[in-house]
Amino acid sequence: MADRTADVIVIGAGLHGLSTAWHLAQRGVRVVVLEADYAGRHASGVNAGGVRTLGRHLAEIPLALASRALWHNLPALLGTDASFVASGQLKLAESDAELQECRDRVAHLQAHGFAHEVLIDREEVFELLPTVAPHVVGGIWVADDGYATPYRVVTAVRQAAERLGVVLHEQTPALSITQRGTRWQVETRQGRFEADQLVVTAGAWAGRLAAEVGEPVPTYPQGLMLMVTHRVAPFCRQVLGATSRALSFKQFDNGTVVIGGKLIGALDFDARHGEVDIARLVTSAQTVTDLFPHLRHLGINRAWSGIEAFTEDDLPVISSSSRASGLTYSFGYCGSGFQMSLGTGQRVAQLVLGESSPIDLAAFAIDRFHRDSSTPRQPKEPTCNPLPVSKPTSA
Ligand SMILES: Cc1cc2nc3c(=O)[nH]c(=O)nc-3n(C[C@H](O)[C@H](O)[C@H](O)COP(=O)(O)OP(=O)(O)OC[C@H]3O[C@@H](n4cnc5c(N)ncnc54)[C@H](O)[C@@H]3O)c2cc1C
Repeated sequence: MADRTADVIVIGAGLHGLSTAWHLAQRGVRVVVLEADYAGRHASGVNAGGVRTLGRHLAEIPLALASRALWHNLPALLGTDASFVASGQLKLAESDAELQECRDRVAHLQAHGFAHEVLIDREEVFELLPTVAPHVVGGIWVADDGYATPYRVVTAVRQAAERLGVVLHEQTPALSITQRGTRWQVETRQGRFEADQLVVTAGAWAGRLAAEVGEPVPTYPQGLMLMVTHRVAPFCRQVLGATSRALSFKQFDNGTVVIGGKLIGALDFDARHGEVDIARLVTSAQTVTDLFPHLRHLGINRAWSGIEAFTEDDLPVISSSSRASGLTYSFGYCGSGFQMSLGTGQRVAQLVLGESSPIDLAAFAIDRFHRDSSTPRQPKEPTCNPLPVSKPTSA
């Protein structure tokens, strides 16, 4: 019974939950993690592995840069590089208009003091990537970005957390959360868990728990798809995205190519299952063969879909509750939370411990959805209904 009480209960063992638990345990906090399925079963274990600061919303950049510092220091932190490769990420411009868009973006970032995205011309693109189609006119380059294999990262962070005493209960969904006095009680089929602090990192399901506390968030799940090709001779080291088309693309050392880019598939949310929509995958395959015509006959080995949490304003919720004490949220990463997980876990641990940080979380506050009215708004759509995502961005 001893492990049913802790200083902090974390609900959800995706990377955000595991990273938060790991950072808390480094500070001597006793943490129990409850996971409905198994660690990394959903977005954190099945994503494209893009470690990307490139193209982020201004508000996310400080967290993404803090995360990136941790990605580059994994051997010292975890005892393994967890498969991270600092390959760089490149967003390609396929027309002069797109190159101007890239130029404006870089200037905008510089005006806000960020210099990590660098504009490069056609010649520099071809130096980096001689195999790309000749119509490419330039792009944005981030040398310190890269990629990693999701299940390896999940395993490494989980093991690091467990070495520090974190107790993980898989197949243990949190059925309800209640605050009695200052203490949180979480009911599960395995019994009641109790702690002074509760952290909700339940991904696409987190909105339901927030609604239980009376602060609903306009969040909705999407099934995001990826496909992986047969092996092909090495032709691309960097992770690639496109300026106006949905694309996230990388070749692994074993020759296979992973293709994605926020491609929306079908979703059975209640069954916790995403389904591949082949017709939509074709669009991405077309972008890839436009950029690399020699891949025209390359076969697809497999395709899959993972469930991700999106919010109305495309920003995550990283916030103390505005309704209850001892409750912290971290969810709604809108297709790009893999990269952020390491630094965000650290920042959320600080939030739980009441520590200050130069990284401002105001843009991610949960009450941003409720400020215009005295009562919280209802989500724009029921949480079970997938909505289309309009913004084409690389993952
Ligand atoms: C196909 C795909 C490609 C992506 N590519 C990239 C990429 O290249 N780069 C990038 O940065 N990001 C990418 N992402 C996004 C990234 O994977 C997610 O933003 C991130 O993994 C979210 O992590 P999380 O811990 O918040 O959520 P999750 O990984 O979904 O974890 C939440 C966990 O909470 C558990 N849970 C839910 N409810 C309960 C409950 N009541 N009780 C107990 N447990 C519960 C779930 O079972 C789940 O395991 C991609 C996502 C997908 C789906």
